[in-house]
Amino acid sequence: MVDPTLPEWKRVHEQVCTVVDLHAHPSLNVSLFNRAISKRVYPSTRAFDPFSVRTNIHQLQQGSVDVLLSVIYPPERGIVEECKYIKLLKYFMLPTWNKIYGQPYFQVTNQLLDEIEKAVAQTVNPQTGKPQAKFVYSLIELDELLSQGPDHPIAMVHCIEGGHSLGVAEEHPDHIKNLEHFFQRGVAYMILAHFFKNDLTHPCFPWPENIQKFGCFRGERDLTLGLTPKGEEVVEKMVELGMLVDVSHCTPPARKRVYEIVGKRAPILASHVGAYEINPDPYNLQDWELRRIAESGGVAGVIFMNYWLMPHATGRGINFITRTIQHFKDVAGIEHVGIGTDFDGFTDPPDDLRDASQLPFLTQRLLVEGFSEEELIKIWGGNALRAIRQGWGKRT
Ligand SMILES: [Zn+2]
Repeated sequence: MVDPTLPEWKRVHEQVCTVVDLHAHPSLNVSLFNRAISKRVYPSTRAFDPFSVRTNIHQLQQGSVDVLLSVIYPPERGIVEECKYIKLLKYFMLPTWNKIYGQPYFQVTNQLLDEIEKAVAQTVNPQTGKPQAKFVYSLIELDELLSQGPDHPIAMVHCIEGGHSLGVAEEHPDHIKNLEHFFQRGVAYMILAHFFKNDLTHPCFPWPENIQKFGCFRGERDLTLGLTPKGEEVVEKMVELGMLVDVSHCTPPARKRVYEIVGKRAPILASHVGAYEINPDPYNLQDWELRRIAESGGVAGVIFMNYWLMPHATGRGINFITRTIQHFKDVAGIEHVGIGTDFDGFTDPPDDLRDASQLPFLTQRLLVEGFSEEELIKIWGGNALRAIRQGWGKRT
């Protein structure tokens, strides 16, 4: 039903596009701070605010999010080693500390998966008795949920950030068995790297410069190193299983190796990245990489983080989001552009796009800049859904 009073941009965002966020972290709020995902919060006024909430159910509903790739990140021990202040948290939040640092990464990852599932299962609307969000564990379940019409619950899909979640060699050596376990749990993609070197790969330097001012996170990353033999084995197994490979955070040589191994056999993802041409940081993708991802049928999701989007952070990042979208379109084609906000990942989103409720403003801006309705359908979710349908194993 078309509401004639609805502005054009709202109509396109809310009623025309299927909105897919390829990368967000509601799990961190649930597991680190015990925040219920359906609890209402006051909007955060500052862009960088580690205590903000950007992806609770109300914000996701206001932003008309249909599918959220819910990313699990078991915090790495290197964080504590590179920033002594973080050790103080042990005294303020001992049970959480023990949960995160008191057991192997594989167990932590499973516990965080359990906790976000439990939190999402509690999002029943008291008026209607229906769930407001629901985890789906296969393509069949995803498509079934989306076919329920405009009032369907938000589809949540498990994803993992960092190959350390498979266990480091000393503590849990069977990476392939653990990967199969996560696949059976419904994990759609895994990002091989995160902040620190793991058994699979080497990462890019992950921190904004202003964090280094506090004497934290000064450790070096060797950008000449790439995938390990174990990493190559895991990538091959992911293709075989039907778990999407995400190259975000990998060093340039590691990314290159993933493009070589996967080729055109499965869509390659870079769920939350910027463009090297706009902001020449090794984390961001170069033009030839955007083309390789396109050749695989994959998608590059534009991150909503000032630090990666622009060379000198101004805070007004929505301009750089649209510039990055335009660049990805020019280089890779409109079929390979997506959105991966990284909301609730301790990021600094633009002042003018702070949380999921503000997503329609991007549609408004893109329409003003001349993007068509058909292009917006692809950017917001058409491309992401195509890649997921093509690359995520068909489990029943
Ligand atoms: Zn990330």
